[in-house]
Amino acid sequence: MGMGLYIHVPFCRKKCRYCSFVSSPAKEGEDNVYVAALTGEMKMRSGRMTAEEKRVDSIFIGGGTPTCLSEKQLALIFENIFCRFSVDASAEITVECNPGTLERNKLSTLREAGVNRISMGVQACQPELLNCLGRIHSYRDAEVTYGLVRDAGFLNISVDLMFGIPGQTLNHWEECLERVADLGPQHISAYCLHLEEGTPLYDRVMAGEAQMSPEDLEADMFGWLIDYLGSRGYAHYEVSNFALPGRLCRHNLKYWHNERYLGLGPSAHSSLGGRRFSNEPDLARYAASLSEGILPQCWEEIIDLKTEMSETVFLGLRLVEGLDTGKFRERFGLDIEDVYPDQIQRLAGLKLIEITGQKIRLSQRGLMLGNMVFGEFVG
Ligand code: SF4
Repeated sequence: MGMGLYIHVPFCRKKCRYCSFVSSPAKEGEDNVYVAALTGEMKMRSGRMTAEEKRVDSIFIGGGTPTCLSEKQLALIFENIFCRFSVDASAEITVECNPGTLERNKLSTLREAGVNRISMGVQACQPELLNCLGRIHSYRDAEVTYGLVRDAGFLNISVDLMFGIPGQTLNHWEECLERVADLGPQHISAYCLHLEEGTPLYDRVMAGEAQMSPEDLEADMFGWLIDYLGSRGYAHYEVSNFALPGRLCRHNLKYWHNERYLGLGPSAHSSLGGRRFSNEPDLARYAASLSEGILPQCWEEIIDLKTEMSETVFLGLRLVEGLDTGKFRERFGLDIEDVYPDQIQRLAGLKLIEITGQKIRLSQRGLMLGNMVFGEFVG
């Protein structure tokens, strides 16, 4: 089996008010510095791998907004990926975009490069909510971009949405889900807004200028999300992810199955060869390190058996089908009930998990309180 390849593009047209990702508008010339450094990192990392280790069966170009880069820069990145790694012919290749950052020529470039999946950040439909989030686009822009992507021949499109936005009502959320489902994307990701310290939205909430949604409203929105998308044919397969049949995100499944992936670009994380490591987040330092012939890593840890088991459990429990206890035994030579007897008993007693046959899965209540469940297996 090949690994997943993730590439982080650290640029966005404008910073959203809630965002804590490593992304900012590119200063003059920074995009070229980034592309040169990234292709240098590909050369250096792949040069240290065996032919088998270089096999890739899913690629995800995320960020940031990868489609802020020019056609030429995007083409160069893909040329280098295919030159440095052995990409399976059937690989899933996703590029993230935001409305207003794509036009026909760029879409043709992506298609020619082999991209077969587009993930679009839409987040909300109502102008006041998009404004609260500091998004650069209107919902109409999202519809136009969606049409361009579909007309360019992409048959696998994912839309990202958000609930729990200050000022968002259940009616807003119902309307948003209906309008997005009417577009007909093959995949929908829907996340509850998490207030991140250091963001402008955090400051507004702390100053009393905006209020986060009450928890019971968030729970109602989550419940509606599951019921409504189910009625529109989307399978709920991960806490925050829904897909039409056969359209689960193969790249993200690698994370939830705790499989190998390599992350390239500033701040990108990797899990490979029994180690987890991440790159320098600052673009200038990332590029300087590579120009000196040094890998731009700033953090690394050895994944020991205990860590690997705990990650396999809490990541696997994110999947609605649950964790396969037989596969756990195959992978580690141990029964999960012997490794985590107290946690499993406690969570089952609280009706947060259900055990049926070979599966341990989150209950309906557990889906709402996922972090409480995952926390039991961390550390
Ligand atoms: S588009 Fe995404 S990555 Fe860029 S600032 Fe907004 S939330 Fe952050």
